[in-house]
Amino acid sequence: MRLIMMGPPGAGKGTQADIVCAGMSIPHISTGDIFRANVSEGTALGIEAKRYMDAGEYVPDGVTNAMVRDRLEQADCAGGFLLDGYPRTIEQVGELDAMLGSQGVGIDAVVELIVDSDEVVQRLVNRALDQGRADDTEEVIRRRLEVFAEQTRPLTSLYASRGLLTQVSGMGDIADVTARIEAAISASA
Ligand code: AMP
Repeated sequence: MRLIMMGPPGAGKGTQADIVCAGMSIPHISTGDIFRANVSEGTALGIEAKRYMDAGEYVPDGVTNAMVRDRLEQADCAGGFLLDGYPRTIEQVGELDAMLGSQGVGIDAVVELIVDSDEVVQRLVNRALDQGRADDTEEVIRRRLEVFAEQTRPLTSLYASRGLLTQVSGMGDIADVTARIEAAISASA
C-alpha cells in the first residue's frame, strides 16, 4: 500500500504513522523527521531547512521534492510506504504524481486525521514541554497552523475529488484512533 497521512500539526500523524507502519511493515517517511535529522547532523540540507522550520514556514518545494524523490527511490519503498507530512502544497502533489507515475504506480489511500483546533494547540503545547522542539513555541505554532490552513488544507478536497480521501477522527485514545485508521485503510484496499 502507498499511503498518505494528512492533518494539521498536532493531529497525531507521527504517532499514528509509526504504529500503522509497524503493523503493515512499510517504511514511515516523515519529511519533518528527515529535516530534523539533517538539522542535528548539521548537513547543508539541515542548515537550509532550519531557517524555515524555526519560523513555522514550509521548506521550499524544490528542496523538499528532491529529498522525497531520493527517499522513494530507495529499495525499501518498492513494496509500499506511508508519507507523513508530504505532500503539503499543490506543487508537491504534482511532483509526487510525477514520481509515482514514472514508476507506473499511484497512491492507494489518503487518511486525514480530524482534531478540534483547541485540542491541536493543547497537544502542541504539551509536546513543547515533553520534547522541546524548536518550532513548538506559541508564536511558531500559530504560524504553522496558518500555513497549514492556507497551503495544505486545500489538498484534502483535491484527494477527495480523486476518490482517495478518508477522514478519521483523531480525538480520543491512541489505540482507538489507530483502529479507525486501520479500518479506513482496509476499506480502501
Ligand atoms: P512536521 O514534523 O511534519 O510538523 O514538520 C516540521 C517542519 O518541517 C514543518 O513546519 C516545515 O517547516 C518542514 N516540513 C516538513 N514537511 C514539509 C513539506 N512537505 N514541505 C515543506 N516543509 C516541510
